[in-house]
Amino acid sequence: MARQIGVRDPRTGRTDETLRCADAAEVAAAADRARAAQPGWLALGTAGRVAALRALRDAIAERDTAMTAALVRDTGRLQVSRLEIDSVLASLDRWCERAPGLLGTAGPDPAPTSMPGIGLRQAPLPYPLVGAISPWNFPLLLAMIDVVPALLAGSAVLLKPSEITPRFAAVLRACVAEVPALDGVLTVVDGDGATGAAVVDTVDLICFTGSVRTGRAVGAAAAARFIPAFLELGGKDPAIVCADADLDRAAQAVLYGGTVNTGHSCMSIERVYAAEPVFEEFVDLLVARARKVGPAYPEVTDGELGPIISAAQVEIIRDHLADAVARGASVRCGGEIRVLGGGAYLEPTVLTGVDHSMKVMREETFGPVLPVMAFADADEAVRLANDSEYGLSAAVFAATTEAALAVGERLEAGGISVNDASLTGFVQDGEKNAFKSSGLGGSRMGPASIRRFQRQRSFLIRSPEDRAPWWFG
Ligand code: NAD
Repeated sequence: MARQIGVRDPRTGRTDETLRCADAAEVAAAADRARAAQPGWLALGTAGRVAALRALRDAIAERDTAMTAALVRDTGRLQVSRLEIDSVLASLDRWCERAPGLLGTAGPDPAPTSMPGIGLRQAPLPYPLVGAISPWNFPLLLAMIDVVPALLAGSAVLLKPSEITPRFAAVLRACVAEVPALDGVLTVVDGDGATGAAVVDTVDLICFTGSVRTGRAVGAAAAARFIPAFLELGGKDPAIVCADADLDRAAQAVLYGGTVNTGHSCMSIERVYAAEPVFEEFVDLLVARARKVGPAYPEVTDGELGPIISAAQVEIIRDHLADAVARGASVRCGGEIRVLGGGAYLEPTVLTGVDHSMKVMREETFGPVLPVMAFADADEAVRLANDSEYGLSAAVFAATTEAALAVGERLEAGGISVNDASLTGFVQDGEKNAFKSSGLGGSRMGPASIRRFQRQRSFLIRSPEDRAPWWFG
């Protein structure tokens, strides 16, 4: 009897669906099918795979209404669900356009080498079977972010979405079923952590997006099997607001970057450092703007912030707020998790009087909470921003691009927004690595992303007329 788990609706708080979790035998069967289908998928060539993914794009676009409805049930929010779908469609367009250039070879074949008489053919070969394991905060977007380049590179994929937001998977499966070339090549397996662990145990390369804690387990399991693991984990992104920055602009960008999607975003602004001379003015501007952002309740079309998606996250956010207040923080707005219609909502919360002894400054809160701390000079701002286990991304606001870059250059993070916040969520052109505990492995953005799925091969070709000077005799 397959294991079943309950699925909660974040708007009502009720567990009103069940999810059947694939066991290790089912995952292994899906892997066998994928391995059997992958050579045919690779043989289609880049143009054939692009055509199939364009068909998948169209199928998702045609099922926009069903996909939106499923994402709303999963996450309780509407605007961001629409944004997710648009972003996935744009990403499919972008990858389909760029893949032929990135996967093709340029120049003579074989190419000359440093050794006279020896030519070189570089002929990469994709990993046959890639696993993708995704979290609940952007269910569709983060499910597809590694799947699309992996498929274009010629790999087959097993995708294991989060058990907290699994409803969109049925719609995605229906879209995949409309593209015959993807039969067996892209398989969505439902389930929880045990299903995820079975995926790690069966694939040739694993892309994992989720918490540091699970990422460590996935990294260890992958290391034991000698398969590459690309880990995209948590963050505690700092924003630095310099004294000469446009404060209103900084307040607007920090508020959006710290609270959009209810703060459930790895590259969410989770700590703000404002220069002492402008600290109070900046906080006043931030609070004034924060008070205008409200819950998406009673209608899903209301307000800006949906409910806290995961029940476990409600307790983490509550704990961080209580810890901060107990240690002397002041709540300047928000601060109270309200249960409305069964869902848990938190309005944008600005805290002052914070320091690095507090959980809200050290651990990932993953909610719409903006603790603001003053700094005396750039050295202190950089020291505080870098005083973190995490190093995903950061933001710097200053009067000029050069001044902001001068501070940004000193930050230990892979993606740094200048005079805006959380831009890596919108612009995926640049290559970046997750620093420190925020992740492991090559860039999932920019051209390098697709090459993660290729094993490089070199054919070293001696011309028939030539003999090696080192051969005996
Ligand atoms: P999580 O680690 O609890 O779960 C993520 C996924 O891992 C789920 O699908 C889960 O079923 C699966 N899983 C659990 N145990 C497993 C195991 N032993 N082996 C294999 N898979 C297993 O994370 P979450 O709470 O769903 O997501 C929130 C976290 O994700 C936050 O820390 C957030 O910062 C992070 N995140 C990171 C990025 C990024 O790009 N760096 C993006 C989004 C979210």
